[in-house]
Amino acid sequence: MPADPTAAAAAELRLTPRASGFLRRGQPWFFADDVQQGEIAPSRLVRVRDEDGRDLGLGITGAGRLALRACGAWPGDGVPDREAFFHARLARAIEARAGQLGPHDGVRLVHGEGDWLPGLVVDRYGPLLVLQATSAFVEQSLDAIVPFLVERLGATCVVARNDVAVRKHEGLAEEVRLLHGQRVAEVVVDEGGLRHVARPFTGHKTGFYLDQRPARALVRQLAKGKRVLDLFSYQGGFALSALVGGAVSALAVDQSEPALQQAIAGAQQNGLAGLTTHCGDVFDFLRAQRERNQQFDLILLDPPAFAKSRREVEGAERGYRDLNRQALRLLAPHGHLLTCTCSHHVTLPRFEEVVRQAAAGLPFHVLLRQRLGAGPDHPVPIAHPESEYLKVLLLQRQDGA
Ligand code: SAH
Repeated sequence: MPADPTAAAAAELRLTPRASGFLRRGQPWFFADDVQQGEIAPSRLVRVRDEDGRDLGLGITGAGRLALRACGAWPGDGVPDREAFFHARLARAIEARAGQLGPHDGVRLVHGEGDWLPGLVVDRYGPLLVLQATSAFVEQSLDAIVPFLVERLGATCVVARNDVAVRKHEGLAEEVRLLHGQRVAEVVVDEGGLRHVARPFTGHKTGFYLDQRPARALVRQLAKGKRVLDLFSYQGGFALSALVGGAVSALAVDQSEPALQQAIAGAQQNGLAGLTTHCGDVFDFLRAQRERNQQFDLILLDPPAFAKSRREVEGAERGYRDLNRQALRLLAPHGHLLTCTCSHHVTLPRFEEVVRQAAAGLPFHVLLRQRLGAGPDHPVPIAHPESEYLKVLLLQRQDGA
């Protein structure tokens, strides 16, 4: 549809020279004092220009502190209507995941800034879509987004998992709601023959940890013949991956009894033997374990985000250090520890420093074998490290001369 020329003329913002430079380098977030000229009407699609009027593509104005989020180049000079904008961006995101859209595949279809769709996340679990809208503009545009996705992907159910605290910055309520089709409580996601269960209404995040897929694949590859310990196991994504990879045993530890029950059900559904569970606090479990002298060949350590804000980073780092140290002590000779943080505020260099401190003074050396993160379906603009929240390190105990 052609753009409305009068709306286009009004919907234009000019950035300061400094902010223009940042945007050119790919940084997507701007505040009110980055805008040099133009009215910041909230929740609109706007044309962004530098101080001399040169084009910088499109942006979405925020209803909160984030005045503007960049959303990439766009042909011509004006502002497209919402449908044209979302349809083009969504089509591109879908195209980028071609080959991962089978009837039982789980994939992140839209990853906010990484897909030039700030404020929108969409996960696909086979015929089911779960989306998260964290900007008012996206929220107001669901009537353009949902029908397009339904039609393009043949989705039978679309759920909004909008129970995320960041929504309050844009004046949006936290809620979970069915947007299309019939309510589906559970859906099976196939990962190389291993069947996981995603729970769109009640599970963590959008119903499953799609972001740990690369780490699950690595666990599966390493697990043959190993005694495995899955700490903060939730529904046992790692433990099940280890068992399918040939682990002799997997002990899942979590404080949530329902999560452990789901892990047990998952093992049964997949015909996997060797899973045991322990319901309790991981810190207590690790302390008690030291007296028992039990060792593990492969330990997974995937705690919840300890730092929810910048202020909490120091305390969070203490927690991570303590956990990693205790976990390293439980490694058998040549054993592996896969350690994770999903705190946005704990950067990779800081996380590595924490792990370095955790390893200092142990009676063996520790090798850094691999760095991983969320998979390529979670694209990270290099200028926007905030979208790279998940950091995963594979460590190995070094023994012998
Ligand atoms: N590794 C999981 C995800 C972990 S989510 C996966 O890949 O699917 C974090 C889990 O930690 C939740 O299940 C929560 O119940 C658990 N948890 C949080 N704090 C805990 C604690 N102190 N002790 C034990 N479990 C805890």
